[in-house]
Amino acid sequence: MLAYRMNTADKRRRLWFVVCALIAAAGITMPAAAPAESKAKAALKIYISVDMEGVAGVVTADQLTPGGFEYERFRRFMTDEAIAAVQGAKAAGATEVVVSDSHGNGENLLIELMPKDVRIVRSWPRHGEMMAGLDPSFGAALFVGYHASTTSPNGVRAHTISSAHFTRVALNGTAVTEAELNAAFAGALGVPVVFISGDDAAVNEVTMRLGGMESVITKKSLGFHSAESLTPAAAVEKIYQGSLAAVSHREQRKPYVLQTPISLEISFKSYTSAEIVSYLRSVERSDAHSIRFVGKDMAEVMDFIVFLNYYNPEMAP
Ligand SMILES: [Zn+2]
Repeated sequence: MLAYRMNTADKRRRLWFVVCALIAAAGITMPAAAPAESKAKAALKIYISVDMEGVAGVVTADQLTPGGFEYERFRRFMTDEAIAAVQGAKAAGATEVVVSDSHGNGENLLIELMPKDVRIVRSWPRHGEMMAGLDPSFGAALFVGYHASTTSPNGVRAHTISSAHFTRVALNGTAVTEAELNAAFAGALGVPVVFISGDDAAVNEVTMRLGGMESVITKKSLGFHSAESLTPAAAVEKIYQGSLAAVSHREQRKPYVLQTPISLEISFKSYTSAEIVSYLRSVERSDAHSIRFVGKDMAEVMDFIVFLNYYNPEMAP
């Protein structure tokens, strides 16, 4: 079923006003603003990484790729979900927001619809991949439109980094989702992940690995290419509320930090990919289709993933 956590920020605000009313009745001077409002004045940078497979209504390549007959409409829905997260973060006190277009060609979001004080990370390749531009000055990170991992038996369009080439991506011996990989990258910079939206498989995988967090299930996966989905309008409303609550309570979430050095294992669909990558002296071939690379930190691991995913001798210019 489609589950959603109650907005505790609203409950807290309601409680605050009841307390203020009781204090006023007792003849005591009240403070000028509720805690949430006074917190809003401090600088707070929020990072929002937006993928597309987990957006409400997305089920096939018809919505996910330029040329798909529904792509143009679904870029708009993806943009609307991103804006809902931006507005929720701002309502919770964010003073600066960076949105990363982290799907496909990295050129999906309709940037003219974004609030003018938001900055947008676009296209590839880039250091940090789906988290490019994140640094320790950010207070929290949010994931919108995320999907399950390639090793998950459930999940709409489940994959990790590359559906075309990778069958498993693991960190320190455990298969990860893109969300866990990105959370580890953020965690190494001291930034906690406070929110995720996507299908039920994506949300369940992430909360199982990273612990409970504010989340919005946009659809129930019925298979790789099928789901029972919220409408775009309903998803937008829930993402706004979830983002507001998540950013309001960001102190409750700790950065997700992996032990270093970090072992990265990647299994390729094709045999020769594993063979040729293992020519690098820094790479060990762990089985016929898999390689292992040990990075000193998450930044090095992420750079290695980006290299594997993008290098092609025919690339130009
Ligand atoms: Zn994607």
